Amino acid sequence: MRDGQQRKIEYARISLTDRCNLNCSYCRPHNLNRAYARELSEIEILRAAKALVTAGIRKLRLTGGEPLLYKGIQSLIFRLKEIDGIEEIGITTNGILLEPLAASLAKAGLTHINISLDAMHPETYSCITGSDDGLDRVLKGLAASLDSGISNIRLNCVPLKGINENEVAELAQLARDNDISVRYIRLMPIGSIIASDLKGIGMDEIKKMLSDIFGYMERVPSGDELSGPAEYYRLQGFRGKIGFIDSLDHSFCSSCNRIRLTSDGILKPCLSYSDGIDIKELLARDDSGDELVKSINEAIWMKPASHCFMDKIHEKRETRNMFQIGG
Ligand code: SAM
Repeated sequence: MRDGQQRKIEYARISLTDRCNLNCSYCRPHNLNRAYARELSEIEILRAAKALVTAGIRKLRLTGGEPLLYKGIQSLIFRLKEIDGIEEIGITTNGILLEPLAASLAKAGLTHINISLDAMHPETYSCITGSDDGLDRVLKGLAASLDSGISNIRLNCVPLKGINENEVAELAQLARDNDISVRYIRLMPIGSIIASDLKGIGMDEIKKMLSDIFGYMERVPSGDELSGPAEYYRLQGFRGKIGFIDSLDHSFCSSCNRIRLTSDGILKPCLSYSDGIDIKELLARDDSGDELVKSINEAIWMKPASHCFMDKIHEKRETRNMFQIGG
């Protein structure tokens, strides 16, 4: 289905839970109130997915919170993959629980995996996430994903001023040695970040840092029709690609193709606004198919032309953090 701006909406992010096993400073800081929202059941998520497909969605990404904490994740992926019309199922994970699960996720039908990794040194990793042994676990999770045969593996890093900027090049080397994409994502001013001291780094600066070290970067296609907003580059001698996503200096709203479903059953047309349509009650009902499709079409139709991250004061700006929405 096309939204009110005539963009074709084909991609849905479903947040499975707002629980997480890390406390990343820019996503789920320690000092936040931890009142957990309800999680949708497998039946409710399948109901949502069927209605999303009827509304034109072809690609799903499971996120959170930490989606690997969701009980029965393999069964859920397997059953989502069986829905006629779903072409891709991806997951965005911090990778902490990935090593023992990667093979079974691949077997269940997972086609894409994004692993969040912001540092290559344990002290920096611990400073950002609060986990002392996490880095080692994530790298083992990456290795297990490579072994599992999942073909689309991407690492996502959010560069932060004065925190991990010196590790950006070291992270890129993972795409030199492996056929994966390493992507840098501009910190988005959402939820508690707006009032925090954390500062993101623009992608033009990161690109320059990398080209100063690795030389010429050739722009290449993403190789994935439904891939979303990243700009990809190939560096000399690299097996994989480097990607950049900058929603502030290089906004991609005009080609945005996604909607979100939060773990408490709210359809969100745009990440930056607090607006949404509550479909919890419809998801709980067995006979709600047509009404669900109607609500999804309504959410798609009301998708705003562009985000409001640049507006210092906007009465409708999202105040929840990313872990409560599903990044
Ligand atoms: N727990 C999973 C993970 O870490 O990948 C999935 C949820 S997490 C909210 C998804 C992604 O959102 C992570 O890659 C994280 O770095 C990113 N993220 C969270 N807050 C962000 C922000 N304010 N700006 C940019 N990216 C953010």
